Amino acid sequence: MEQEPYPLVILGGGPAGLTAAIYAMRAGLTCLVIEKAVAGGAVFLTDKIENYPGFPGGILGPELSQRMEEQAKSLGAEFLQDEVTRVELEGNLKLVKLAGGKTVTSRALVVASGCQPNRLGIPGEDKFYGRGVSYCAACDGAFFRGAEVAVIGGGDSAVQEALLLSKLAKHVHLIHRRDQLRAIQVLQDAAQQAKNISLIWDTLAQEVEGEDQVKAVKLLHKPTGQKRSLPVEGVFIYVGGKPITGFIRHLVEMTPEGYIQAGEDCKTSVPGIFAAGDVRKKPTRQIASAVGDGCNALKAVEDYLLGL
Ligand code: NAP
Repeated sequence: MEQEPYPLVILGGGPAGLTAAIYAMRAGLTCLVIEKAVAGGAVFLTDKIENYPGFPGGILGPELSQRMEEQAKSLGAEFLQDEVTRVELEGNLKLVKLAGGKTVTSRALVVASGCQPNRLGIPGEDKFYGRGVSYCAACDGAFFRGAEVAVIGGGDSAVQEALLLSKLAKHVHLIHRRDQLRAIQVLQDAAQQAKNISLIWDTLAQEVEGEDQVKAVKLLHKPTGQKRSLPVEGVFIYVGGKPITGFIRHLVEMTPEGYIQAGEDCKTSVPGIFAAGDVRKKPTRQIASAVGDGCNALKAVEDYLLGL
């Protein structure tokens, strides 16, 4: 027998998706959260979060994620671990095709699938992935206790993770392509004050070098054209991210970069499909704003379902 459509399916179990699930269950809407990895998304991979209200002194990313997931589950939200490959429409229904072969049907859909880290695209990056190259200091930092490491990037992620690594590694070289960091001032100040973080300005990483493991990163100082190899055992890359929206690109309006066009109400160009969190085109990508999106999306979902 065919399964009844869910009133709501939520794609992604990060802060936006989990907030939407909490608000859905409290509004009496059965919902299914589909997450390909672990609930929490990027938050789960973050060491300490110091800018989410309610936690003076900060909270560890995995703990915040688990608390949000627990709250959604305790209210009855269902969870499924699988990867979404494509979303199709059948009249008003949304068909969510999964890598595992299943298709899940829903009346409303919240897309909260977040972003994935960009690759630098330099020689050695792929070859040494997992052997010195990493995109997650919270996951891999402990392997570099007492070592020299490089962090590439100048945004909040790069500086925050450089600070985490500075507690484990002997020395952290923060390599940025400009002469000014993009990160918020409080992170910049902390990095400048850390004794074992040095900033390398106006510099591009050109190649990750090594044999079995990373041994160095080749650098180009842009103003002088000077090249050198900086000996390091680890290279952590934080050069931004791109939205995970390929499975819905053919349906909803997007920016050229793949962010979903939706306002604060999270409504996309397709009735009944809503975008929340980092996948939405918006000026801030923070846990607090993702949580706000999850809440706003649910208000729009309720209005949409009432109108059906
Ligand atoms: P981001 O803000 O986009 O910063 C990416 C950094 O990588 C920029 O400094 C950029 O340089 C550099 N970059 C990009 N492409 C590069 C390349 N090909 N070669 C060398 N450098 C390159 O990304 P993010 O730091 O991951 O942050 C993403 C979002 O999450 C932001 O909205 C951020 O505020 C938020 N976030 C917040 C927190 C927090 O509140 N604690 C923590 C993490 C992330 P340029 O500066 O020259 O462009």
